[in-house]
Amino acid sequence: MTFASLESGVMNRCSKGREISAYVPGLMIEGVNVLSISTSLLDLLVRPLANPGVGPLQTTGSKEREVLHVTPLFTTRCNNHCSDFRRALYTQRSLLITSLSLSLSRAQMANSGMAKIAVVGSGISGAVCASILASKGISVTIFESGRGPGGRMSNRRERMEDGTELCFDHGVPYFTTSHDEVVKMVKSWESRGLVAEWDVKFGAFDKRTNKLVEFEKDNTTKYVGVPTMNSICKALCQGDGVEAKFGVTVGKLNWIQDRTSWSLIGLDGKELGQFDGVVASDKNLVSPRFSEVHGIPPPLDVSPYRGFSVLSQGIPVQACFALMLAFSEPLSSVQAKGISFQNSDILRYAFCDSSKPSRSFIPPNGQSWVLHSTSEYAASVIEKSGLKKPSNEILSKVADELFQEFKATGLNIPKPLFMKAHRWGSAFPALAISPEEKCLWDNDTKLAICGDFCVSPNVEGAILSGIAAASKF
Ligand SMILES: Cc1cc2nc3c(=O)[nH]c(=O)nc-3n(C[C@H](O)[C@H](O)[C@H](O)COP(=O)(O)OP(=O)(O)OC[C@H]3O[C@@H](n4cnc5c(N)ncnc54)[C@H](O)[C@@H]3O)c2cc1C
Repeated sequence: MTFASLESGVMNRCSKGREISAYVPGLMIEGVNVLSISTSLLDLLVRPLANPGVGPLQTTGSKEREVLHVTPLFTTRCNNHCSDFRRALYTQRSLLITSLSLSLSRAQMANSGMAKIAVVGSGISGAVCASILASKGISVTIFESGRGPGGRMSNRRERMEDGTELCFDHGVPYFTTSHDEVVKMVKSWESRGLVAEWDVKFGAFDKRTNKLVEFEKDNTTKYVGVPTMNSICKALCQGDGVEAKFGVTVGKLNWIQDRTSWSLIGLDGKELGQFDGVVASDKNLVSPRFSEVHGIPPPLDVSPYRGFSVLSQGIPVQACFALMLAFSEPLSSVQAKGISFQNSDILRYAFCDSSKPSRSFIPPNGQSWVLHSTSEYAASVIEKSGLKKPSNEILSKVADELFQEFKATGLNIPKPLFMKAHRWGSAFPALAISPEEKCLWDNDTKLAICGDFCVSPNVEGAILSGIAAASKF
């Protein structure tokens, strides 16, 4: 038997006609602090108390009557009496929360949908997977190495010398959808104001003739996160039932056979928690590249998994350098807001980042652009510098070379106010390892592996993989 107790609580929100969702800071289940739980989960906790001994929980506290009294409030709709309702709920729930202790077994937790799952990585595949799991009543903890959510869908804040703040989508510039399931999901994000169409003219520039040769003909809708590219992952990481821990690199994923659970260990050797299942959403978790960067074996040893042998050699990747540029004035001689380069050894794309909807943090009256290198150019730099974090010297040299190539177009490119390069060591997987199943799954240890490398090297592929991984639990 394991022990759980409910302590203090506050009301989350109550808007007209919306179902109330309750937040209970301090809910302890097996030593893991669950910061928020959704109405449905709270309902699951509370409802069985009406018939003690039935349902997933037995109470060991002494004031169950107050609990029974407040139960209906959690499932009632607001009906436009927001403030009264809110006060009542707060008061009643304080009683619930200060007086109740519960006990619950692992099997009961799993059966009741209260399993604890760790998702490693907050890129779009991990974030989508986590939010679907949470919507099923599963308690999800995301661990993310980066300071914020998004992975390759993140954005970068910078400051110019005069203090002006800038923000760039330095990874994926935009994404498209074709698969029904993804179309539906993206439409729902659009209705929540998390994404918008980026409706601008794209062109192709031929370096051999130094001419903008053609404008894009296909009318595929281009989507971007608003106000920044990471808005989708950010919202999913903040959803009910999801706890996200940033700046935490998982250094080891250990399956503990006799406890039938996973133990996660940080890079610093500290235990991060125990979980009933794991979603690993980055290929580097199993890749020899991890050893080259961190000097220790990759977090997940896939050798015991017969179905995972495809991972043991590492997944080939293509790298890319991104150059962030800010100008004091718009580039009026450049007619397209997205350019693909032909016959350039160095430049692959240029995007006018500030032409995306709802962008701020650009120089007053100016423009911001992001250039992408060719993968061949990136590979040639990495061959000399290695996989470790590139030095400022290397990044400055790359910035200069990319900018000179842009300037050499003859498109009248002025001196930028700000210029900085970023390396994406694994920008694009060069292999799709599970295009049919869309993820790898081991039912014995409840381990899912997902990410764009399972389906296709783009946002849509990553979303499909995250959906597939969530469906396994
Ligand atoms: C420059 C560039 C241009 C692109 N252009 C396009 C485009 O035009 N259209 C398009 O659709 N796609 C594009 N993509 C690809 C797209 O960004 C990816 O396919 C998609 O974002 C991948 O999502 P993911 O969740 O699979 O992986 P990721 O976004 O890489 O997420 C994995 C996450 O796991 C975290 N992580 C890894 N190891 C650990 C650990 N040990 N502990 C904790 N956290 C860990 C990482 O920090 C990362 O945040 C582009 C990408 C780049 C870089």
